[in-house]
Amino acid sequence: MVLARNSRRIFLLLLIAIASQVVAQKAQSQAAGSENLRNNLVYAVAWKQTAAEHRALFYQGFSLARMRVELALARREPGAKPLAIVSDVDETLLLANDYWGYLLNQGQDFFDDASWDRWVPENRFTASPGALQFLRFCAANQVEVFYVTNRDQGEDTFELALANLQAVGFPNVDEEHLTVLRASSNKEIVQQRIAQEYEVVVYLGDNLNDFARKYYSTDVDARLELMEADRDLYGRNYILFPNPTDGHWIRAIFGDSEPPPSDDNRQKFLEAATRSAWDPR
Ligand SMILES: [Mg+2]
Repeated sequence: MVLARNSRRIFLLLLIAIASQVVAQKAQSQAAGSENLRNNLVYAVAWKQTAAEHRALFYQGFSLARMRVELALARREPGAKPLAIVSDVDETLLLANDYWGYLLNQGQDFFDDASWDRWVPENRFTASPGALQFLRFCAANQVEVFYVTNRDQGEDTFELALANLQAVGFPNVDEEHLTVLRASSNKEIVQQRIAQEYEVVVYLGDNLNDFARKYYSTDVDARLELMEADRDLYGRNYILFPNPTDGHWIRAIFGDSEPPPSDDNRQKFLEAATRSAWDPR
């Protein structure tokens, strides 16, 4: 009898514990939901996830890249160096849209390294629009494709990147063609090594650092000036894809590519966004 009463009491306590957990989780997700109404990231992620313009810009970039490759193939002299293209990976060839949706659902408004490192091994990337067709065109015409990325998910970084690229069916994804930089985002040494053996037709990226290291500046205006000085290279040697959520443009504002989610940083973001603003007083 006593045993039965105790079991009932334990059962009731368990029920109360589960119910309180459900209520707490619901409150947390409602709080995240209402926080999200003023989340810094919503506009950029909504654009990435829904705008036909976002997708069209990828098709446009790969069409331009293909024209450059076709021209290089047509102009090729016998005995010249073989042709190659060098591409960044994340947000250039592989899109991580559902990571950004997840981040928002967690109530976060800044990129979060820890959750990114959990997301990458899930292999949920999708090929960017037009990437597969362009890379297959290169491979079919003996234009070597080199993948150069800076990522760091620990010792498995290279294998994870390899698996991500293979999963979407890109050509020549192997140890010879993929370089993963863990310690630095400086791609120039790899670019120079490739350029010794190949005529690099185009570099593809979503970040100016994918083209040249000199753009790695923490000064917004200096970065703009450096790009302006090279304006003739864009659409010719450099093909740039749109990315409003992350990259060194963020670093130029905050001094950090992955700034912590603090009110000071939210204030800095607001100041960056309003550095030119009509003041009708
Ligand atoms: Mg990238």
